[in-house]
Amino acid sequence: MNPFTVCLHVHGDLDFFLPSRTPSGRVERHLSEKTSVKDVIESSGIPHPEVDLILVDGNAVDFGYTVTADAKIEIYPPGIQSSGFRKKRLQAPTITEFVADGHLGKLVRDLRLLGIDVAYDAAAEDRQLVEIASRNNRALLTRDRRLLMHAALKHGYFLRSQNPLEQTIEVLRRFNPGSMSSPFSRCLRCNALLESAEKEKVIGQLEPLTKIYYEEFRRCTGCGQVYWSGSHFTKLQKRLEQIRVKLGS
Ligand SMILES: [Zn+2]
Repeated sequence: MNPFTVCLHVHGDLDFFLPSRTPSGRVERHLSEKTSVKDVIESSGIPHPEVDLILVDGNAVDFGYTVTADAKIEIYPPGIQSSGFRKKRLQAPTITEFVADGHLGKLVRDLRLLGIDVAYDAAAEDRQLVEIASRNNRALLTRDRRLLMHAALKHGYFLRSQNPLEQTIEVLRRFNPGSMSSPFSRCLRCNALLESAEKEKVIGQLEPLTKIYYEEFRRCTGCGQVYWSGSHFTKLQKRLEQIRVKLGS
């Protein structure tokens, strides 16, 4: 087979994944055998869950399309409008359930505070993360680009920032999980939903002053952790406000 050249043009912030953030967003690849467009894209550094639309010489294709000759390939992330091609999008615009890679404990806490379902085990191995994501149709949140390229993975996102607040905003903007509607509905420790609990049912778990000053309690349906509107609650409300302000900015 004669060697051929494909010219990739990446849109939106996908140049983030190119070597030294190639300013023009344009990369040339020289190939000598037929290659799936997914492999061409991933070998350029862009994980497939970050790609929402692929145009080869102007035609929308899916990841299985095979490139066999010179071609111009346009690559778009989710959220970047390219008129038409609505039915050719490769990613779900909205996802409400996630699994997070280790070392993302602060992001996980923020998302659970908003009421968003995030599976998390700081000690989980890569293969377990991929399995949870694929089995339960959760989007994998990670800062491991190679992990995001795992063939079994459908949905996922590479967190650009290392700052938990910025990361939270990134997830809300990318996946529109219907946040802000049900804060304080989920356990920050274990992700299970909270339910109201009568004081007499939880009194054994309360400190002496809490018993005196508080009347309303919620209890985790998973781990049994009890929550009330104490000083800790005020801190969490401040965090929610920070997220709201940042999201609106
Ligand atoms: Zn819990």
